[in-house]
Amino acid sequence: MLRIAVIGAGPSGFYATSQLLRAGFEVDLLDALPTPFGLVRAGVAPDHPNIKAVTRVFEKTAAAEGFRFFGGVELGRHVTPAELLRRYHAVLYAIGTTTDNRLGIPGEDLPGSHAATEFVAWYNGHPSFAEHRYDLSAEKAVVVGNGNVALDVARMLVLGSEELAVTDTADHAIEALGASRVREVTVLGRRGPAQAAFTNPELLELGELSRADVLVDPADVEATTQDDVRATNRKNVEILRGYAARETSGKPCQVRLRFLRSPVEILGDGRVEAVRVVKTRLVDGRAVPTDEFEELPCGLVIRSIGYRGLPMEGVPFDGRSGLIANDGGRVAGQERAYVAGWIKRGPSGVIGTNKKDAADTTSKIIDDAEAGRLGNPHALEAPAAEAFLQDRVPDLITWQGWAMLDAHERAAGEPHGRPRVKLVRRQEMAEVLGAGKVVA
Ligand code: NAP
Repeated sequence: MLRIAVIGAGPSGFYATSQLLRAGFEVDLLDALPTPFGLVRAGVAPDHPNIKAVTRVFEKTAAAEGFRFFGGVELGRHVTPAELLRRYHAVLYAIGTTTDNRLGIPGEDLPGSHAATEFVAWYNGHPSFAEHRYDLSAEKAVVVGNGNVALDVARMLVLGSEELAVTDTADHAIEALGASRVREVTVLGRRGPAQAAFTNPELLELGELSRADVLVDPADVEATTQDDVRATNRKNVEILRGYAARETSGKPCQVRLRFLRSPVEILGDGRVEAVRVVKTRLVDGRAVPTDEFEELPCGLVIRSIGYRGLPMEGVPFDGRSGLIANDGGRVAGQERAYVAGWIKRGPSGVIGTNKKDAADTTSKIIDDAEAGRLGNPHALEAPAAEAFLQDRVPDLITWQGWAMLDAHERAAGEPHGRPRVKLVRRQEMAEVLGAGKVVA
């Protein structure tokens, strides 16, 4: 029996696991967190419960024979890639792209300027971000970027307390967002409406917010170039044109979408006070700065310009793309090592995109197995592999452990009409598990 360690229990890790189990492999699915589901738990916006329902598919995978989950195992801290390669027939990295792209402009690190990656992890109750604090006392916020994460962040900033109260937003974030004074959120695109990376349903949803009007300058939409753009982009322009034609209805908040503006500096004396932008024009699809500048006063900046991977010792990394160096899913220059998901192809697509992406990698694993390329005389049987991990991580969380945490969270949410109340601190999780000690 060939045994594979899949690292990362997000969508790619789960899709790959399911495909490998069906092909007859045994899979140990490892995650740094005590909880599974990656960005479905810690990234997808809490007001999108339908997207989170994909976890039901992953739960079926977890019930299949040959599956084991080991939470709390941090690669590079508890075990190294080389140690796993020695003990399994193959290792598949599905570790996602965990950090943010940088704007590379002065003032980027002023207090009040934050990466969307962290803000999203904070409101979703990721344990590593639970202690973060966001000053939401200013009326104006700027979100940089024109992707779906920027829209998630803009929405979360203007949802009402009663809307948040029925979601699985972390309690600390419900409290902070409930007391927020933010009333105007400006979402900045460095290119035009036809180049925005929003998808249509997400852009439409922005126009249906109960507490916020969406504002678009008609001149921005009319100035757009639509040559060679995809149907999604053309539909976005249509939606934006509709927004530009709307009368404001006097809702307490506003989400303002502004285009052809690129931040050049975040200004402030000790903390964020404004964003200085240069107006841009499109040349061959690229945003080229003009000599016109503008200052947008604000007390909060969320930079939402995409994710990138972090290098890890023992795994070849392509610093330019921010991804694990690979050839269609086979890790470059290493035998029996594979990669899937965002850390393989970059942070793009929706959750389902990772199913096909994982299949492209798992088909190579299957080919390599059939060609006898996964032979490893040191590979451990299941009990020995567990003992090895248990030795490194005394508070290892199994699927049964997660099931206890899951049941606890759901039961806590039920009386309040919430899908769950998330446990966000490792100590709280340990207490639920009856261990009384810190989890991983
Ligand atoms: P994204 O879709 O790649 O968008 C990144 C945005 O940042 C782009 O508008 C990009 O503009 C802009 N940008 C990059 N560098 C910039 C710079 N230096 N200055 C100004 N703007 C800059 O990334 P994302 O929003 O992080 O989303 C990641 C993936 O998750 C996407 O595939 C997204 O659709 C998906 N997602 C889906 C949902 C959903 O389905 N509900 C929700 C969240 C995320 P340029 O195009 O000009 O480079």
